[in-house]
Amino acid sequence: MIKSPIRTLTGLLYFFYFFACATASFAQDWQKLSGDHFLVYFIQDESFAKEISYRAENYYVRIASDLGYPRYSEFWTWDKRVKIYIYPDRASYLKASNQPTWSQGMADYTNKQILSYAHSQELVDSILPHEIAHLIFRDFVGFKAAAPVWLDEGVAQWAELSKREIVKAVSKDLLASGSLFSVADMVNLDIRRVAEGDTIQIHSIRDKEGNRKLLSLNGSIVVRTYYIEAVSLVEFLISRFGGTIFTDFCRQLRDGKSLEEALRFAYSTRINSIEELEKLWLEYLA
Ligand SMILES: [Zn+2]
Repeated sequence: MIKSPIRTLTGLLYFFYFFACATASFAQDWQKLSGDHFLVYFIQDESFAKEISYRAENYYVRIASDLGYPRYSEFWTWDKRVKIYIYPDRASYLKASNQPTWSQGMADYTNKQILSYAHSQELVDSILPHEIAHLIFRDFVGFKAAAPVWLDEGVAQWAELSKREIVKAVSKDLLASGSLFSVADMVNLDIRRVAEGDTIQIHSIRDKEGNRKLLSLNGSIVVRTYYIEAVSLVEFLISRFGGTIFTDFCRQLRDGKSLEEALRFAYSTRINSIEELEKLWLEYLA
């Protein structure tokens, strides 16, 4: 998951209060491992921290290269290194991060930190590449860009190799059952505001007759489909057209273009609108 930039002063103070309290209680106990791009802080079990440090450096190089950010290796060195805090257990992580109980890790853009807890295999295999990808993407695109949340979450999940391998098959199943959402609704939906118990109205992709259905769905189903569709769209853009064009698309967003303008610029002659993106993506899945 992501922690978006905190917009209000109260929010900022609230966050720092919680983070300060949580880190202060461990202040004397934190030990540190220094890598080229990451500082790994841990309380106990140095061998797990060493594995995280080693994996983080490898993920960093692979993700930047997979995304086609070729000169990225110059970033995040020395004083710009990302801090990874490994809390000793889930309870202390949740207290420190002030995240919902289902959370297993988070990226804090403002302070360039990743927070999680020890001995989580999820941290090694999924959370680490996911959160590193969020930080790399936001570093590249910035905060002012009109980059939709699905793109951010799609890039982060695409960095998890286990998801990359299954996303096309899972998306095909959703396509077959008519459960995929229109890309226009994906752009407009702020998934961070959707709770499990909510009922959400959202349009489907076009059926064979060219019509969209208005779906009324439980929040947890919306979240699940949204995340699959997000990574499926990113997988489509990168597999079909390559990393270089994807980087160019991200660069256009960074430089202030709207989503459609950036698509038109980078994928000119092929994708000129969100409707065309949806159409080509569905053809790719079918
Ligand atoms: Zn995320």
